[in-house]
Amino acid sequence: MGRSSKDKRDIYYRLAKEEGWRARSAFKLLHLDEEFNLFKGVRRAVDLCAAPGSWSQVLSRKLRVKESSEEVKIVAVDLQAMAPLPGVTQIQGDITKISTAQEIIRHFEGQAADLVVCDGAPDVTGLHDVDEYIQAQLLLAALNITSHVLKPGGNFVAKIFRGKDVTLLYSQLKIFFSMVTCAKPRSSRNSSIEAFVVCQNYSPPEGYVPNMSNPLLDHSYDVDFNQLEGPNRVIVPFLACGDLSAFDSDRTYPLQLDSEKEYEYLPPTQPPIRPPYQQACHLRKNNLLAKEDSPSALLDDSLSTMNL
Ligand code: SAM
Repeated sequence: MGRSSKDKRDIYYRLAKEEGWRARSAFKLLHLDEEFNLFKGVRRAVDLCAAPGSWSQVLSRKLRVKESSEEVKIVAVDLQAMAPLPGVTQIQGDITKISTAQEIIRHFEGQAADLVVCDGAPDVTGLHDVDEYIQAQLLLAALNITSHVLKPGGNFVAKIFRGKDVTLLYSQLKIFFSMVTCAKPRSSRNSSIEAFVVCQNYSPPEGYVPNMSNPLLDHSYDVDFNQLEGPNRVIVPFLACGDLSAFDSDRTYPLQLDSEKEYEYLPPTQPPIRPPYQQACHLRKNNLLAKEDSPSALLDDSLSTMNL
C-alpha cells in the first residue's frame, strides 16, 4: 500500500501524525475524557501497557497543564522500551508481576494513584476465542495491579474485548467499583470488538487484601461463564462516546489538501524502537531468507551480524 493511500485510509491515523501523537489510540483516551472528565484533579496517574506511548503523551500534555507540573507524577509500564516523554517515568516490566506493582508504589513514595489506565493488548492471533481469553487475562492483571496502587474513589479505564465471556469480567469489576460503564469512543473502529470499561469510584470490599490471583487461571474455579444468572449476571450500561459531528473511524475521507501545496508525507511521530520485526526485516533486506542453510544457522548468522 502506497503512503498516500495509507494516509487516506484512516482519518485518526493521519490526524495523529499531524498533531504529533505517537499512535492514533491517543484519540480514544481523549474521547473517553471528553465523556467522563477523567483527568479532573488527577496528580498521580499510571499508564499500563503504554508503548509506544500515545496515552502517556495524552496524560503528560493534559495533566501537566491542569496541575502544577512538579506535582504531577505519571508512571508508564510496558514490556517494551519506549522513547522518553516529559514528566513520565518508565518501567519496563510485566503487569502480571507483583514486582511491577511494587515499583509503581515506590515511585509514588507510598501515595496512591488517582487514575489507572490500561490499553493493553496481546499480539492478536486471529483466533477470536484465544485473543479474547488473553485480553481478559491482561485486564484482570491490570485490575490486580490497580487494586495495589489506586486510591479509594479513584478511576480505572481499560480496554476490553466484548466477547461472549464479558459478563464475568463486568461482574468482577463491579466488586471493586461502584460505577462501571462500557464505552466505545468514536475513534475506535465499529468493526472492532474493542471497547473500554470506565470504572469509577474505587471501593474495594471491606477487608480486601490486594493480590495477583486470577480466577480465569484457576482450573478449580468451576463456573460455566455463559450461565451467570440472577444477581450474579451483571449488565453494565453501554455508551457510544462522541456525537455524529466527529470523524467516523470506519469511513474513508479524502485527503484535505491545500490545492496550492504539494502533498507532503508525514512520517510517524515516534518510530518503534527495537521492534520485534526488526530481525525479520534485516533477514529479508539482506536476502537471507532465501538461503538454503538451516533456519537456526541463519538466525545465528544474522544475530551475530546485528550484534544483538
Ligand atoms: N496505549 C498505547 C499507546 O497509546 O501508545 C498502545 C498500547 S498497545 C495497543 C498494547 C501494549 O500492551 C503493547 O505495547 C504491549 O507490549 C503491551 N503489553 C502486552 N502484554 C503486556 C504485559 N503483560 N505487561 C506489560 N505490557 C504488556
